[in-house]
Amino acid sequence: MSGFDVVIIGGGLSGSSTALNLSKKGYSVLIIEKEESQNYKPCAGGMASSMQKFLPLDIKDAIESKIKNVEFRWKASDNVTADLTGESPFWIIKREKLDQLLLYESLRNGVQIIRPVLIEKIIKKNDKWEIKCNNKTKYISKFLVVADGSQSKWAGYFKLGPRKPKFANTISLRLKGLGEIPKDAVRFEFGFIKYGFAWAFPLKESLNVGLGTFINNSPLEDQTINNQVIRSFGFDDISCKPIYRKLRIWNGIHPINNDKVLAVGDAASLCDPFLAEGIRPSLISSFYAAECIDQCLLGKVDNLNLYTEKISNNWGKSMAWGKRIAQVFYRFPRTGYQLGVKRKTAPKRIAQILSGEMSYEDIAKRVIRRLLTNSRS
Ligand SMILES: Cc1cc2nc3c(=O)[nH]c(=O)nc-3n(C[C@H](O)[C@H](O)[C@H](O)COP(=O)(O)OP(=O)(O)OC[C@H]3O[C@@H](n4cnc5c(N)ncnc54)[C@H](O)[C@@H]3O)c2cc1C
Repeated sequence: MSGFDVVIIGGGLSGSSTALNLSKKGYSVLIIEKEESQNYKPCAGGMASSMQKFLPLDIKDAIESKIKNVEFRWKASDNVTADLTGESPFWIIKREKLDQLLLYESLRNGVQIIRPVLIEKIIKKNDKWEIKCNNKTKYISKFLVVADGSQSKWAGYFKLGPRKPKFANTISLRLKGLGEIPKDAVRFEFGFIKYGFAWAFPLKESLNVGLGTFINNSPLEDQTINNQVIRSFGFDDISCKPIYRKLRIWNGIHPINNDKVLAVGDAASLCDPFLAEGIRPSLISSFYAAECIDQCLLGKVDNLNLYTEKISNNWGKSMAWGKRIAQVFYRFPRTGYQLGVKRKTAPKRIAQILSGEMSYEDIAKRVIRRLLTNSRS
């Protein structure tokens, strides 16, 4: 039987970054991961460079492309391009590499990981968590972090996040070469995919292609349309096997902590319901999770409630607007494209959202202010 300050369920992006943040504060941490290894992560790797500030580690080795332009298309035409101003505000990282960097740095800082291991039972005994695993070992910890991703088993068990989670359906492929996508641009393709969109994000020598539907639990079964989208990115041969995943997306503000337990990343349903951005909330939640657990372990506060509050203020409020925008945009995509993308200032605003400079809340407030001013004049 081994004892730790914190046990983390899941060693993906949010699990590893929480472990790293906690280990930098001097705590003993164990990660329990169910997979032996993960050579490919179905994630396009787009992230705002401003997120570096939430990590105690330079991640430049994981950056494959620094993005200067964001391209939008409606059914492979009606081109709109947004310049990303400033010093490379949007990066494409190789997810496997980022997860590995974070994990290795945490291990160097004393974090332990056991894999592949499945948790059989978790109970609370004498105010501590007792975690029984299929390796016949019991682990004891003062705090528990649920970081087991979109298919989380433990978030529901501990009543963290929405009672009925919402999911986006996604397909991802990594294609050799860049097709017709410039090495410093990302492409968003609307109009082909009902209730969603497609994206193409360049790595150094390959392209991360994704298709997603965000409302109505709409499936992505029409191979003819899927192939048409992929061909629009400049590929004829699509022999690579697509990976289907359900991505747990934001679905309202709910407690994501309970007594001595909290959820981070996808397990906490934090992924952007409009653009599928999940790296940013994973890093933000990991940062605040470590900060709030630290406050508890130092005896400065006696619960983790501040964690839910911080995430709802720093992320949830923007996502509430992201969800509303998604509901309208994906129901009326042609109008959405005309008003949301083709409007003169729109590409700049979308670029500002992607780079983390602006939130959906800021955008919504601007629109409301404009409507009020126009109706008064
Ligand atoms: C197709 C696609 C494209 C995307 N593109 C982008 C993008 O460009 N930019 C962006 O910001 N976001 C993107 N996302 C979202 C982003 O990938 C996720 O939000 C992010 O991976 C969340 O990280 P996580 O650590 O919470 O979950 P994960 O990375 O899924 O990690 C969960 C970990 O927990 C482990 N685990 C699961 N169950 C258990 C268990 N019972 N016990 C122990 N371990 C367990 C898993 O093996 C895994 O290692 C994309 C998602 C998809 C599906």
